[in-house]
Amino acid sequence: MGLIKLIRNVEVYGPKYLGKKDVLIVGEKIGFIDEHMQVQVPEVEVYDGDGMVAIPGLIDSHVHFTGGGGEGGFSTRTPELKISDCIKNGVTTLVGCLGTDGVTRGLENLYAKSKAMEQAGVTTYIYTGSYRVPPVTFTGSIQRDLVLIDKVIGVGEIAISDHRSSQPTLEEILRIVADARVGGMIAGKCGVVNFHVGGGRNGIGYLFDIIRETEIPHQHLYPTHMSRNKTLFESGLHFAQEGGFIDLTGVQPDEELKKEDFTAIDGIVEAYENGLIDRITISSDGQGSLPHFDKEGNFTGLNVGSVGAVMYTLMKTVERGISPSEVLKVATVNTASVLKLIGKGRIAVGYDADIVLMKDWQVNTVLCRGKFAMKDGEITDLNVDW
Ligand code: ZN
Repeated sequence: MGLIKLIRNVEVYGPKYLGKKDVLIVGEKIGFIDEHMQVQVPEVEVYDGDGMVAIPGLIDSHVHFTGGGGEGGFSTRTPELKISDCIKNGVTTLVGCLGTDGVTRGLENLYAKSKAMEQAGVTTYIYTGSYRVPPVTFTGSIQRDLVLIDKVIGVGEIAISDHRSSQPTLEEILRIVADARVGGMIAGKCGVVNFHVGGGRNGIGYLFDIIRETEIPHQHLYPTHMSRNKTLFESGLHFAQEGGFIDLTGVQPDEELKKEDFTAIDGIVEAYENGLIDRITISSDGQGSLPHFDKEGNFTGLNVGSVGAVMYTLMKTVERGISPSEVLKVATVNTASVLKLIGKGRIAVGYDADIVLMKDWQVNTVLCRGKFAMKDGEITDLNVDW
């Protein structure tokens, strides 16, 4: 297939609404966006996008792509991500992380999986570390990991306020954040610390302490699961108001919701109403275990997270009456901004051609860095369908 592709007559949300356009793709990049384009080169692959909407490929900042879990013993280890799963759900950029289990799950495996996914066309990054403090690393040092290992853009998920955390002290957390900041500076990466925030009383108390007591700016503190409950979310909104970013965990497509449950959908709506939608991101927790515990902390069962949670949550939020150009920000431009991913998160000239074409707001065709990974509902490369 040719290096030059022309998607004709598609309604573009970049995520800002641009109207009906032709999008010219040159190699891995978006070369031009205009109306009724005439392209005169010997070979151009034309794709008719009439009746479809184009949105930027989604960015999922928290995926256990080598599997997670194990809270109920070895038989509860969750499986690896099937690459076609992220493509079908419109996710073209992912950040992989370990989780509760930093013993049998290793960074080397996470790295290998990120390379495999990259070969299939999706863009991948990883966090060094796991729940526990001091974190597991490749090289024995967070700074060295950030500087020397291309895929590593931050640290995470470090567990706080959770019965599964290593009960880290503020000083321990502070050292990790400081290392992430300096390592990130040297390597020209975001150097974020992705915090798994549990349901514990202290919530993101440590993060407020760090802002109050040190010179470290908000940009390195990136708490996730902030839609766990209303109280935690409200404190997250304060953090966002001060200039921070918070990440919500998307609603799973098969999740049964009770009316009184607070969800990421409510979170996005509330952030929007408070003028803070630009400070919010959402991720899927894909392939992670979603364990249930009783009041005594005993494990009672688990579900496996799907990367489809991001798209599902976005679409459910649009149904609540907020325009797609606003809602889409939380898994495109905002995420690219926190993670400092240059050339990601927009349909704009010079950006990577990560584009999702939707028919009736259902994923139909997906381009990953200029290649069709899914076309008219079919995964193009069956080598990635495992
Ligand atoms: Zn987590």
